[in-house]
Amino acid sequence: VRRSSLFLCVPGHVCADFSFVVVFDHRVFVNRSLTLENIKCYGFDMDYTMAMYKSPDYESLGFELIRDRMVSVGYPHELLRYTYDPSFPTRGLVIDTTYGNLLKVDSNGNILICSHGFSFLKGEDIQAYYPNKFIQRGNTDRYYILNTLFNLSETYLYTCLVDFFTRCTRYTNLPTGYQHGDLFMSYRSMFQDVRDAMDFIHDTGTLKERTIKNLDKYVVKDPNLTVLLNRIKEVAKVFLATNSDYNYTEAIMKYLLESNIKTGKPKKSWRSFFDLVVVDTRKPLFFAEGTVLRQVDTDTGKLRIGTYTGDLAHGTVYSGGSSDIVCDLLKVKGMDILYVGDHIFGDILKSKKRQGWKTFLVVPELTKELQVWEDKKMGNRDRVCLLKAHGQRQ
Ligand SMILES: [Mg+2]
Repeated sequence: VRRSSLFLCVPGHVCADFSFVVVFDHRVFVNRSLTLENIKCYGFDMDYTMAMYKSPDYESLGFELIRDRMVSVGYPHELLRYTYDPSFPTRGLVIDTTYGNLLKVDSNGNILICSHGFSFLKGEDIQAYYPNKFIQRGNTDRYYILNTLFNLSETYLYTCLVDFFTRCTRYTNLPTGYQHGDLFMSYRSMFQDVRDAMDFIHDTGTLKERTIKNLDKYVVKDPNLTVLLNRIKEVAKVFLATNSDYNYTEAIMKYLLESNIKTGKPKKSWRSFFDLVVVDTRKPLFFAEGTVLRQVDTDTGKLRIGTYTGDLAHGTVYSGGSSDIVCDLLKVKGMDILYVGDHIFGDILKSKKRQGWKTFLVVPELTKELQVWEDKKMGNRDRVCLLKAHGQRQ
């Protein structure tokens, strides 16, 4: 077995009824050649990378928690009627916080699709908002890009808010928000309230608590994960670098790596799969100046006071630090690391551009996108065949 087969799965080809079906699951795409033999160290993010959350159950949970929080801070009770629809939001969309629109733009900022609440705008309506059908994506004060799968629930909730207030007769529609008596509610303030509600359910640990209580419902358990990590560990160093805190990381990783081991075998701690575990990394800051490196007391989950200055101790969990510290502790250079993550900015761009790490982006949506693309292609081919057959008959 060549070492490269760790990641590069052979695309599945299934032949049925003489039609050629391509299976897109578990494919790896590259935009450069990479000799995996030269990789001395593999790093992993946790959320949506090692731990895949079950869709749409997990997003629905997030949606309900933010929705309820919005109502508890004063938003109308009618909002409770909305439930999460997984077919609506997708990663990569942009929220225009000035006009409350949801946009799909190309890489240059040209607007492809624009919706206001759940209604999709036509060409001239889009032009009324954006005369050149173009936005400055770099204007991050105004435009919010949905970079992570965590953003799906808040995007859908924001769309529900716009839908509700636009249709509710108690509120007057104005270009940048809604008037209700002597109260003006801007799209911008509504967006801020949704963000605050999202931060609230993250910071108070509500979402984590509910996830941990029902791991089978919310987290995908892949039995091949232990196989993968064991194989990598034979040829390279492995580390985990997550923005999550220790207690949550412990619960998730225990579920992913310990509960699969057959009974009878002595239990192997999830930590033993890694040469280094770092929690509370605060990426993207981690790839720049970082924060103070502390040791985690794995019995209590509390941080030890003071900065850790010793050598790498096996099975120890660290908190904070920076990518430079990780390289020092593991005694590897940035260029020898392949880092796997799902956040295009926090995991991929920063580690590559600032530290020269090799990167591997996890994009679960690709399976569906490629299937749509392939179906379309097959559809076209069928049409061409039909036209040809038609031509022959004539
Ligand atoms: Mg992640």
